[in-house]
Amino acid sequence: MKRLLILTACFAAVFGKVTFEGHQVLRITAKNAAQIILLKELSGQEDFGLDFWMEPVHESLPVDVRVPFDRLQAVRAFLAFNNIQYRVMIEDVQDLVNEERRWMVKDRAVSTDDFNYNNYHDLESIYSFMDMLVDENKRFVSKIVIGQSYEGRPLNVLKFSTGANRLGIWIDTGIHAREWVTQASGIWFAKKIVKDYNNDRTLKAILEKYDIFLEIVVNPDGYKFTHTTNRMWRKTRKPNPGSSCVGVDANRNWDAGFGGPGSSNNPCYETYHGPSAHSEPEVKAIVDFVKTHGNLKAFVSIHSYSQMLLYPYGYKSTRAKDKAELDKVARKATTALRSLYNTQYTYGSIIKVIYQASGGTIDWTYDQGIKYSYTFELRDTGRYGFILPADQIIPTAEETWLALMAIMKYTKNHPY
Ligand SMILES: [Zn+2]
Repeated sequence: MKRLLILTACFAAVFGKVTFEGHQVLRITAKNAAQIILLKELSGQEDFGLDFWMEPVHESLPVDVRVPFDRLQAVRAFLAFNNIQYRVMIEDVQDLVNEERRWMVKDRAVSTDDFNYNNYHDLESIYSFMDMLVDENKRFVSKIVIGQSYEGRPLNVLKFSTGANRLGIWIDTGIHAREWVTQASGIWFAKKIVKDYNNDRTLKAILEKYDIFLEIVVNPDGYKFTHTTNRMWRKTRKPNPGSSCVGVDANRNWDAGFGGPGSSNNPCYETYHGPSAHSEPEVKAIVDFVKTHGNLKAFVSIHSYSQMLLYPYGYKSTRAKDKAELDKVARKATTALRSLYNTQYTYGSIIKVIYQASGGTIDWTYDQGIKYSYTFELRDTGRYGFILPADQIIPTAEETWLALMAIMKYTKNHPY
């Protein structure tokens, strides 16, 4: 049976799109540590075909899991037998994917003014958006290619700069391929910077001291794959020798507690850390950029979902030496974010707020001396999860921008 399932998955990958008909996302609420242990055992069976959107960690946090149709009965029986509570968050994942696809049209924008920010876009459209933005704002915006993805795609970074020899602020989106609201927000941020820098005094003041670097699609191979084949793809697309499973979790691949708890050494896991630190070209390119630049003062890496603003550490329980300050800035940022649509965020260190996760981006950047290192988890809290309806893109980007501005302004006012 197992073999048959794997074969089916391979055929889908070769011959067309993976579908999610009848797949449900269950929200499981464990009521004690024993139930968490049971759920961890369930999540540990990588060939059972479950996709944990939120891993079991602690009974205070819900567990979200996408269950394929042919596994529903078994999972439900398991939960009922162990008296574990759950409810259905998404009735049919494919329905949401279809709805999303229905709205996605090939963008034929000829300028960034008529680009459709209220929609999801394929990789080509995003890359052509970047070129248009650069063309329209040659003195202010440039495109830097910091490397190549495993499949040979350029790793494009937009640089917003008003002069030479500036310090730097880094923002990235899309390191996890399926977190589509992040790349879509990245596009909106790019346009926002161009629109505002002449008339927003705070942004202007920031740009007098800092260049802003924005990498909208950190993982282009994965992003492409979410459009062509598997909407739920998270990892990179590099094959793993000796395994039929592809890809590495690029947010477990950094040299910060590499290979420790909260990452997996199994290439078939969504949190596979890879064969060695910085093994993924998409990660290595940023590492090289950070080191070569040498003067980045803030680093923000954006994910979805769960509405959180997080700071180091994730790989160890030691408090970051700047914890008090990082916490203060996080409070300012989440307060600013909430002021627009009353979206509630939690904040704190990764290990405290979510779970121990080793090899993550901002632990590495923080250990490199970039004090203001943050990770966002954007909307929502699980109603739609990774398949956030497109009409939430602009509100999400707008509110997140207020938080980014708070972080950037604080960085400007507190040089170090
Ligand atoms: Zn993520």
